[in-house]
Amino acid sequence: MTPGEQTLADWLVGARAVFAFCGAGVSAESGVPTFRGAGGLWEGRPVEEVATPEGFRNDPQRVWRFYADRMASLPSVSPNPAHRALAEMEECYDPFLLVTQNVDDLHERAGSRKLIKIHGSLMETRCTACGEVLPRPDPVSSAEVAAGRLPRCACGGLLRPNVVWFGEYLDRRQFDRIYGFFRAAAHVPTVVLVIGTSGVVSGGYGVPELAAQIGARLVEINPDPAFQEVADLALAAPAGELLGRVWPEVRARRAGD
Ligand code: NAD
Ligand code: ZN
Repeated sequence: MTPGEQTLADWLVGARAVFAFCGAGVSAESGVPTFRGAGGLWEGRPVEEVATPEGFRNDPQRVWRFYADRMASLPSVSPNPAHRALAEMEECYDPFLLVTQNVDDLHERAGSRKLIKIHGSLMETRCTACGEVLPRPDPVSSAEVAAGRLPRCACGGLLRPNVVWFGEYLDRRQFDRIYGFFRAAAHVPTVVLVIGTSGVVSGGYGVPELAAQIGARLVEINPDPAFQEVADLALAAPAGELLGRVWPEVRARRAGD
């Protein structure tokens, strides 16, 4: 371990509360491409085509083709050591909360349950007419979409992916849970991890400021750090590799080995 990684390990051994704020970089080592890396493209598509309400209104078939492909690709990727470490952490810290911007299902598949998917989920649809959100365990069929048969709700309305697009609002209740975490963590040693997010989309949603307010240690894990100026520690390394080294040691030391 590097000296920086050793510092993170020491802080995690001493912490009572952990908050993690994650982005596309957490899934990069699983083979899910990140977003902004490729200059505003998501898997080769301009974001305004596939990640805005206007893009969906203009061409719902094109948007569904894109999301059907994203859904279909999930079974061929697996959680990496970063997802697994974060899932194990929820058993070790109280309070614990993981907020991810990722719409893939790798955190859930690694076992995370104290999880807020702040940008929604590829595995859910929402009705554009009645608003009902439904889980969608099986991918939307690309062949059906190609044939012009887009998924529909029982009410007849057109379904859309239940993901938050540019220009759309986030769910307020999720922020209440985030503030609830910081209230509960205010008087205990807390580590706030910011992992694999460029902050371009979210600006961090105020997480660094909340961390500072309660005197938490803010640690960024990202080969190309974006929150360096506000972080107490910025570790420039891939999250899976780094947590694959650091977390087993922390777990062992906390268990008293
Ligand atoms: P982003 O694509 O803007 O930034 C990714 C960040 O991850 C970059 O800062 C990059 O340096 C870093 N990174 C790359 N490899 C890494 C690694 N191995 N370990 C740690 N960090 C690594 O991501 P964002 O800030 O999450 O914004 C992307 C938006 O697009 C989100 O709204 C998200 O919903 C969506 N998106 C989701 C997925 C997914 O679900 N996996 C993938 C692409 C985009
Ligand atoms: Zn409906």
